[in-house]
This record gives sequence, C-alpha cells and structure tokens, in this order.
Amino acid sequence: MIRIAMTKGRIQKQVTILLEQAGFDMTAVREMGRELVVTIPDDLEIIFGKANDVITFLEHGIVDIGFVGKDTLDENDFDDYYELLDLKVGQCIFALASYPDFLNKKFHSRKRIASKYPRITKNYFAQKQEDIEIIKLEGSVELGPVVGLADAIVDIVETGNTLSANGLEVIEKISDISTRMIVNKASFKFKKDKIIEMVERLENAQTN
Ligand code: AMP
Repeated sequence: MIRIAMTKGRIQKQVTILLEQAGFDMTAVREMGRELVVTIPDDLEIIFGKANDVITFLEHGIVDIGFVGKDTLDENDFDDYYELLDLKVGQCIFALASYPDFLNKKFHSRKRIASKYPRITKNYFAQKQEDIEIIKLEGSVELGPVVGLADAIVDIVETGNTLSANGLEVIEKISDISTRMIVNKASFKFKKDKIIEMVERLENAQTN
C-alpha cells in the first residue's frame, strides 16, 4: 500500500486530472463527499489535508508521498524529503510587489513588508542584506500597502489581476512556484519500485 497526502482544493483538482492521465482510476476521488481518506485501485490510499498538514503527515511517516505547492515547501522548516517531480501545474511566482514608485522612494526607516510568508520574505531580504520589518497578514496581503500598513508585499502572483486591481505591480520576481511530488526518505528506501513507477507514469502523462 502506498499512502499519499494531497493538498485540498486547487492542487487536488489539478493532480487528480494528472493522475487520471497517468492511468490511475480516480473515480473514488471524483465521487467523494466529506470523507478525508479515499482508497483507489492499485493499492493507493489518499489523505486530503491543508498544505502544511501534507508536509506534517510526510514528516511523521504517515504518508509516503505528498503533493504540495513549492510555496508551502519553501515556507516550511522541514526539508528532509526527496522532491521527485515538478508537476508543472499550479504555476505562479513569488514576487515583491508595491506601488510603481517603490524603487525611487526614499525610506527613512526600515521598509515594512506584509506577507503570509515570513520565512520567504526574511530569506529574500537577507540575501539583499537589507534589514526590514515583516508584518504577518493572513488574508488579502495586498491590503497592506492599500491601507498604509506596509510599504510593499511578498506574495504569490498568478495572473497579476489582484495587484493591478489595487494599483500595485510586481517590483521583482523572487521565485517560481508549482506543485511538487515529495517523498518520505524511508518510504523511498522501502517502496522504491512502486514510487518510481508512479513518477514515470506521471512524467509520461506530462509529455503526452
Ligand atoms: P492573481 O490575481 O491571479 O495574481 O492572484 C493573486 C492572489 O491569489 C493573491 O492574493 C494570492 O495570494 C492568491 N493566489 C494565487 N495563486 C495562488 C496559489 N497557487 N496558492 C495560494 N494563493 C494563491
């Protein structure tokens, strides 16, 4: 039996399609109601959870495989896993965004940067050797500059529509994001053949 943790929502939708294209029978997932664990043919069990919980399940050896966004992986401290595949779905970027005059503006104190992703924000500015104040927001981070709480934001940008609707723009791209297949290291040792087979089937589905 291979156990998989899948991030609920948009990743679940896109990965379900990809697994179907790879020949897995995902009927039970398509027809599921409120259950949180689903068994599918080929001896696979899928657990559905929030992105951070997918990593927690994998970290504790509850699941062998996780499907999760690169954004969540980068923000999480845990990095003792193998990333076996970039599924190339859920593609977007991390970016520093603000009003168009941001780069020409003179700041007399530390810049205030709002983000849902303090770790990524901290690392990005550390690389620039810039000391900033991070303001953690949970919801629409774009509100930070709009209400005058922050000078800029570090956030996920997909189409850029949310930024432009609020007068903001990308100042600098930080990194690419997409959905990744991660594997518990012990699982990879003991269930290598089945895991590699799944990677190959997904890779073939990507190229066809
Ligand atoms: P967009 O207007 O298409 O650029 O989308 C940007 C907004 O949607 C931001 O508020 C993001 O936080 C959110 N968003 C876009 N893509 C994702 C994603 N893959 N995961 C989480 N949030 C996202």
